[in-house]
Amino acid sequence: MSAGGDIVIVGAGQAGFQAAASLREGGFDGSLTIVGDESVARYQRPPLSKAYLAGQASGESLALRPARFYADHRIAIRLGIRATAVDRAARRVAVASGEPLAYDHLILATGARNRPLAVPGADLQGVLQLRTLAEADAVRRSLTGRERIVVVGAGFIGLEVAAAAAARGIAVTVVETAERVMARAVSRPISAFFRTAHEAAGIRFVLGAGVERIAGRGGRVAAVETADGRSLAADLVLVGIGVVPNVDLAAAAGLPVADGILVDHRLLTSDPSISAIGDCAAFPSPFAGNAPTRIESVQNAVDQARCVAARLTGRAAPYGALPWFWSDQGRVKLQIAGLATPHDLAVTRGDPASGAFSVFRYREERLVAVESVNRPADHMVARRLIAQRAPLPAGQAADPAFDLRALVGHAAAA
Ligand code: FAD
Ligand code: ADP
Repeated sequence: MSAGGDIVIVGAGQAGFQAAASLREGGFDGSLTIVGDESVARYQRPPLSKAYLAGQASGESLALRPARFYADHRIAIRLGIRATAVDRAARRVAVASGEPLAYDHLILATGARNRPLAVPGADLQGVLQLRTLAEADAVRRSLTGRERIVVVGAGFIGLEVAAAAAARGIAVTVVETAERVMARAVSRPISAFFRTAHEAAGIRFVLGAGVERIAGRGGRVAAVETADGRSLAADLVLVGIGVVPNVDLAAAAGLPVADGILVDHRLLTSDPSISAIGDCAAFPSPFAGNAPTRIESVQNAVDQARCVAARLTGRAAPYGALPWFWSDQGRVKLQIAGLATPHDLAVTRGDPASGAFSVFRYREERLVAVESVNRPADHMVARRLIAQRAPLPAGQAADPAFDLRALVGHAAAA
């Protein structure tokens, strides 16, 4: 496609806005329309479970760009409007209100939605989830005056909310089906460290336990009942059991979907006029042996948006950015570079008892991921080491006297 034409972006989140901004930066001169079903847009989600929840960040500070950016860059934003169907033959997107939008290229950036907790009582008053600003406002309001909260799910969001609630003096119990916290994302030493740190802050864990039902009184939550027979009193429940990708629009248009909208290494769907990016897209990641991979992170949303914008403005390149993540839980900062699998070899650098250490994870003797706790310098070096595929024997990674930065220098020079 030339640097003109009509581009429609469905989804006014991190990925959708970045795609629009990068298209203009790359010289795209045609019409650019973003359709988003949330009525408030232009905000970042990460602070919602961190500084914003703790009352340390204002609504304005969440903005992705100042309001005038969009007008200045001729980006039409249609908020509070749902895209309801894609007519691929006519290249038109139907929307819930108004005329269909014609496109030369369509970017699906539909993100993900909270996975619902499918148990009786999940619809009681006081059972909340957290993805949107509106939901964050509800959680923030609801924490006031509460004494006992049960968090269902010990993933990043569950633990971030648990830490924020405990810091406010609320008694917190976290119920998790897995035997350890953040099992999807991190190694055993990191799970163990975070569990201990949260317990020291007064948080109680019930691990290896599923929720069977939520009991109420007068329509409001009163207790969470687990499959192993416990009843955990609660005046608020936060369900953080992960997300499901928004693939419905793509699936109804006949595009292949699995756990995500399937795209190739250029982030194109099976239709050359439609790309998919961010939380909704499953792409062949070179960091996962090119298996279809769906990543939920700001880095992924932003870098995929940039990749598609570059292709649409004549600078096509396969998507190969190194994945990285972070989570702030109380005073502990976790940073992750790369992608690991549960069976990787893990070696520790630094002493967990000191509160600052990193875990280096290997697959077949290759460094694939590094998880750093309060060691930002390790994280920054790790991002370069993994991206450059620099050799780092596990013995050297575990030796605190070995200077990792020197290795980055060598790899860069090689
Ligand atoms: P989304 O942000 O989900 O945006 C998609 C938008 O599209 C949504 O507004 C959705 O409503 C809309 N939409 C969907 N279907 C339609 C349709 N048919 N028509 C119109 N609009 C539609 N990541 C990190 O890297 N670090 C963190 O610390 C971190 N913390 C997080 C904390 C919280 C509380 C949450 C919720 C997420 C966090 N994430 C974090 C994840 C990160 O925010 C997401 O990966 C990122 O926002 C994904 O961006 P996206 O644009 O792909 O999707
Ligand atoms: P995120 O990190 O984005 O919050 P994850 O999917 O990593 O989301 O974490 C969700 C956690 O919720 C996982 O550790 C998962 O084992 C847990 N979980 C999923 N379903 C249930 C459930 N019904 N009860 C308790 N925990 C659950």
